[in-house]
Amino acid sequence: MDVSPILDELNKPQREAVSAPPQPMLVLAGAGSGKTRVLVHRIAWLLEVEGISPLSILSVTFTNKAAAEMRGRIQRLLGMPVGGLWCGTFHGLAHRLLRMHWREANLPQTFQILDSEDQIRMVKRLLKTLELDENRWPPRQVAGFINARKDEGSRPQHLDDRGDPAQRELIRVYSLYEETCQRNGVVDFAELLLRSLELLRDNLELQAHYRNRFRHVLVDEFQDTNALQYAWLRLIAGDQNPIFAVGDDDQSIYGWRGAKIENIHNFTRHYPSCVTIRLEQNYRSSGNILKAANALIDNNRGRLGKKLWTDDRDGEKLHLYAAFNELDEARYITGRIKQWVDDGNLRSDVAILYRSNAQSRVFESTFNENRIPYRVYGGLRFFERAEIKDALAYLRLTSNLADDPSFERIVNHPPRGIGERTVDMLRQIARTERRPLWEVAAEAVDSGEFTARAAGAIGRFVHLIRQMNEEIKSLPLYEQVEAVISLAGLKEHFLAKEKGETGQARVDNLNELVTAANGYVHIQDDELPDMDELSSFLAHAALEAGEGQGDAGEDCVQMMTLHSAKGLEFSMVFLCGLEEGLFPHQMSVNEPGRLEEERRLCYVGITRAEQQLVISYAEQRQLHGQTRFNPPSRFLQELPEELVDEIRPKVQTYQTSYRAQARPATNVRPSHRPGSQTESGFSIGQQVSHAKFGEGVITNAEGAGAHARVEVNFETAGRKWLVLVYASLQKV
Ligand code: ATP
Ligand code: MG
Repeated sequence: MDVSPILDELNKPQREAVSAPPQPMLVLAGAGSGKTRVLVHRIAWLLEVEGISPLSILSVTFTNKAAAEMRGRIQRLLGMPVGGLWCGTFHGLAHRLLRMHWREANLPQTFQILDSEDQIRMVKRLLKTLELDENRWPPRQVAGFINARKDEGSRPQHLDDRGDPAQRELIRVYSLYEETCQRNGVVDFAELLLRSLELLRDNLELQAHYRNRFRHVLVDEFQDTNALQYAWLRLIAGDQNPIFAVGDDDQSIYGWRGAKIENIHNFTRHYPSCVTIRLEQNYRSSGNILKAANALIDNNRGRLGKKLWTDDRDGEKLHLYAAFNELDEARYITGRIKQWVDDGNLRSDVAILYRSNAQSRVFESTFNENRIPYRVYGGLRFFERAEIKDALAYLRLTSNLADDPSFERIVNHPPRGIGERTVDMLRQIARTERRPLWEVAAEAVDSGEFTARAAGAIGRFVHLIRQMNEEIKSLPLYEQVEAVISLAGLKEHFLAKEKGETGQARVDNLNELVTAANGYVHIQDDELPDMDELSSFLAHAALEAGEGQGDAGEDCVQMMTLHSAKGLEFSMVFLCGLEEGLFPHQMSVNEPGRLEEERRLCYVGITRAEQQLVISYAEQRQLHGQTRFNPPSRFLQELPEELVDEIRPKVQTYQTSYRAQARPATNVRPSHRPGSQTESGFSIGQQVSHAKFGEGVITNAEGAGAHARVEVNFETAGRKWLVLVYASLQKV
């Protein structure tokens, strides 16, 4: 057999890993060394050379995007489709198991997925039921508690409050939460995993079936698996089927969500026959970028320790831009992107990476002004927008009438005269009788327990849902979506309620949902014959919400958080907002463990770049409605000076280099101190008045001569940048 395509273009240790006999394997290697490539080639090898059926392979990656990419690469390598191969994310695969075995998993066939926002809403309601004060028990934190317990595999009955009253309350909420989810037929993200783990653990027949089936289990980004995911893998693999794990301890960035680097150490303990392979050649980044990454990560302790090298040329140095503020940062980057495109390059080879989702907004508006197409991954995710979730809630309720969270969301939305008191009564009955809200509502109409007005309003809602159910049954998916939006009157509602652009934007999004449904390809899955198109679409919406927007095929700049950039690569990378308190994140600076995780995140960011890396920070930044004056990130000082070209705006004379600036601790801006005069005679902090905008305070200044501008925070008009020669500002 000709195996050359599979082993070609692999170096020696890569080949060794790809062609190893079936045995537990750990490929431990730095960024860009070809780990994912090895995994893909390994699968091709198993299929082609070992003659393993695609049905016998289970491969887990971190994002749906990566999973799709992986499938595509295997098919290209083999030159044929590989149906039957299970390749997906932990959540996606767990969901699949539960859909296939909903009965055994004790779920209704129409169970729905509860996303993080729905989960928090539900916790809120339960806190109310239990008469716990939201201020003392912030719903987000309570949800976090529940998720963390599930990630450890603990159900409420496994937990011991050890006499701690706070723990006791939390466990009580968890208990009620669990009971409610079960009654509603909804499953949160952590539950997908835990439930499918319990399914395979407790149902020995199924366990035997899957262990018999999946002869090979492969996992990418192994360093970021949490305890539950690792247990899940081990359970499926059993003792007889080898796990092929690839990962990099230096890229572990989900510790805050329970990921355990220790899994890497445990792996070799759990599988003593495991063969570890290290890859050291980096094929992604040019020399200077790689050297910078190596130098940075060297500041972490307790690493498994590896050095990456490349035989690529040094390439360009890293560029560092010191911006005045976040707008200046966005403007500079816009300029660079224009240049990049003018030079004949693709926008899709450019990535903007940032620590916090909120940073994307300024880029979005600057790109819009400059007509630069972009795509945001994560952030305000399409499927998570309020209006989209409204429409989905109608669809979900028609498909699963027990779905209380959806019921709650839409029972009086758009408003139809069902007041909070009426809903409270419904809730109360539902709670005492332990029945879904829908059933209670349907009976309420004739029960005589409600006022005529309330009963009438509930009746209209019940009728509406029944009508939807009736009318959409035989329609194709996108017409179902269209019909539900129209019967619910969502568009009219938004247009009337939110005048102008906001309302129109929501309508556009609803139309986009119809488009998404139209473009949705429901692949009839032999293993899931009962899954209809709508259920499949709803699961897709819940599971893929976080990953990008519909691909219009346009050449777009890619924007995402550093966390979602894992595993990806781009010719040109902008790493933005390198400021203390933003990156490293404020919450991590006082904790060595978390600080190291931030550094790994920075390492992930740097190693995404192939040819060009531009790093930027702003002296002043508006974020989350606050103005911050943070010193440059400590990570900048950890980059060897000779690798970095500092780009300084020409007009700045008062700024010192990021290296000379004092180390963190203070929140006081190192240059531009209040009171320091700009060339024009105005100073930061000075009170001024403007003919049109009234009085305000100068908060920033840039440029000189005819280009001198100041930013003024006006008392009524808000913040504005003004060119001094035109503004005729008066000192007050
Ligand atoms: P990360 O840690 O970021 O996930 P990785 O170790 O998974 O990185 P890959 O994405 O598999 O690395 O590979 C990085 C780049 O190097 C890819 O473009 C890949 O095609 C290329 N590459 C890997 N190995 C080789 C090789 N032997 N010859 C040529 N190119 C290679
Ligand atoms: Mg990879």
